[in-house]
Amino acid sequence: MMTITLSDPDTGDDLEVQLPSRKCVCPTCEGEGYVLNPSMRGHAYAKEEFDDAFDDEQRAEYLKRGGIYDVVCETCNGRNVVDEVAEDQLTPAQLVQYEAWCESQRADAEYEAVCRAEREMGA
Ligand SMILES: [Zn+2]
Repeated sequence: MMTITLSDPDTGDDLEVQLPSRKCVCPTCEGEGYVLNPSMRGHAYAKEEFDDAFDDEQRAEYLKRGGIYDVVCETCNGRNVVDEVAEDQLTPAQLVQYEAWCESQRADAEYEAVCRAEREMGA
């Protein structure tokens, strides 16, 4: 079972809903348990720049999973799997709640992206 929290559309209160879940391979690290350090992800190295910034040994570390530039995956905390809502096992009522939750997650992510863009612009 997995607990999701959504706000009640009528009262605005937080509602905790238990939904059936299953384990799935972590989509963030693809089951590795490690991801490239977020401070380095986001930065796409040009070939020359990459050659410039790293020597051979560092380059090998950069490209290797679990190397010195990797950090424990924060999505699964290194467990390689995450709980995923078993959508095919939801009752119709649960499905409505789950879809509302997905919608709010998307809205949160968009809001976050806007905030981040504003921060980068120095707002
Ligand atoms: Zn992971």
